[in-house]
Amino acid sequence: MPRTCAACSEPLEEGTGTCTACGNAPKRAVRKNGGLAFALAIPLLFLNPPIGVILAIVGLFVLLGSWFVSPVGQVAGSNSQS
Ligand SMILES: [Zn+2]
Repeated sequence: MPRTCAACSEPLEEGTGTCTACGNAPKRAVRKNGGLAFALAIPLLFLNPPIGVILAIVGLFVLLGSWFVSPVGQVAGSNSQS
């Protein structure tokens, strides 16, 4: 079964995380959000430890979850993440 981009339906190379035709890169977008949550969690660990711990765990899960994201099934930016 051919792998095609969810955004533009162009065929994707095996193992790639980014569509070369339209630049759809959901893995990178998810990883950025996870990194952002983790970066926010560090100062919160000092200011508000319970919230900081929760945010750090969420950030880690998002980073791990980015492993399962691929441009075959997801379109980056469709839900306006920043
Ligand atoms: Zn594409």
